[in-house]
Amino acid sequence: MTRRVRTRIAPSPTGFLHLGTARTALFSWAFARHHGGDFILRIEDTDEARSTQEAVDQIIAAMRWLRLDYDEGPYFQMQRLGRYREVIAKMLGEGTAYRCYCSPQELEAMRETQRARGEKPRYDGRWRPEAGKNLGMPPSAVAPVVRFKNPRSGVVTWNDMVKGPISISNDELDDLIIARPAPGGAKDPGAVGTPTYNFCVVVDDLDMQISHVLRGDDHVNNTPRQINILRALGAELPEYGHVPMILGPDGDKLSKRHGAVSVTQYEDAGYLREAMVNYLARLGWSHGDDELFDRDQLVRWFDGKHLARSPAQWDLTKLNWVNAQALKKIDINVLAGLLAGRLQRRGLIVEADAPLAGMCTLFRDRCVTTEELADWLAMYFSEVKPSDADLAAHVTPQVGPALVALADSLAEVPWDKASISEAIKSVLAAHGLKMPQLAHAVRVLVCGRAQTPAIDAVLELFARERVLARLRRS
Ligand code: GLU
Repeated sequence: MTRRVRTRIAPSPTGFLHLGTARTALFSWAFARHHGGDFILRIEDTDEARSTQEAVDQIIAAMRWLRLDYDEGPYFQMQRLGRYREVIAKMLGEGTAYRCYCSPQELEAMRETQRARGEKPRYDGRWRPEAGKNLGMPPSAVAPVVRFKNPRSGVVTWNDMVKGPISISNDELDDLIIARPAPGGAKDPGAVGTPTYNFCVVVDDLDMQISHVLRGDDHVNNTPRQINILRALGAELPEYGHVPMILGPDGDKLSKRHGAVSVTQYEDAGYLREAMVNYLARLGWSHGDDELFDRDQLVRWFDGKHLARSPAQWDLTKLNWVNAQALKKIDINVLAGLLAGRLQRRGLIVEADAPLAGMCTLFRDRCVTTEELADWLAMYFSEVKPSDADLAAHVTPQVGPALVALADSLAEVPWDKASISEAIKSVLAAHGLKMPQLAHAVRVLVCGRAQTPAIDAVLELFARERVLARLRRS
């Protein structure tokens, strides 16, 4: 590869960064990093009615969460209108684009006639300049659009990184509108109007020297048009890879119906960024049988090959598995930091000296998400409410005196697991009880639930006063 690898993700800020776009971003990022190239963020905000600043912020937040760092951008298309107009003017001058004065009514009539003849409706090229053709006088009442003069013959072919060779015959492509009339365009014959989406993409990919375009396969139909325009501009073509969409578990296009479709909702729900990166990468890409890998491995392996041609299916069970594995592996201090934030967002006060890392170590193996882990850890920072059923079943009159004795003993002993364990054992012996009888009662009172890891390990992580108060409440 001689050209510097430069990839981009070009989301439209009309909503959240949804999973499909996040995956394309990840692929584009990993491919650029694999080749030591550049990754660019470009915001395609020309749909003014639907674009919002909030969506831009969320896209950037999602990229940050996934740590998809970009080397350039965000570029905004709305800030580049002057540049698009400049290229349109150049193309008009060179004759690779022309003004078309068909009124909407005229175009509709054209389509009607074609449909009546059983033909595919398309622009018939009536304002297309050709040698020896007399175009007549432009009607002064119609503000013209600018059309690209698409080649009439030949075939557009590219070797898609995902789908393999694709060929589209030029006679299937009509002359694409690349600019719509600007207000007052009819009066100003020099005006070039508002550039259209496909055209902006081309100019951007050209100016940003994009070498590889990875995007959803809903854009396959745009590619031959974009290639033709790039050729007309004398540009070096990028390589294209069109990634099949992500389907829901029922085989339909992934949508809100299937649960969360925005990346950040998974962050909120307690998924780890590393797990999300791992899971998203496996949706439509593989490296042998490897299911669990980290970011560095992904970058090392992601060479643009082994991209699946068939659509991937969203599988929450698998994501949960990947997340549970990541939760076991993540650096314990990083995890503790995440939990501190999560508990604080619940309104809990996490004392600076709270042994969060120890708590995470004790509970993480039984959790799928950090949210679930926070559910466990919450008992250390807020009151618990044992259910009446648990109280009735486990905090029986029979264990009452032992609980009082245990509280008294725990008030005195050194506050560590071994001493707590000793204290429990002596109380058991003195009261003729079995371990589960006392341990269950302690769990229900102190933790608010009857099942926990070993009680001495659980208690050790509490502030002593909290344990005593809860035991004495019985
Ligand atoms: N803005 C387009 C989208 O969000 C991306 C177009 C492209 O990647 O070329 O689908």
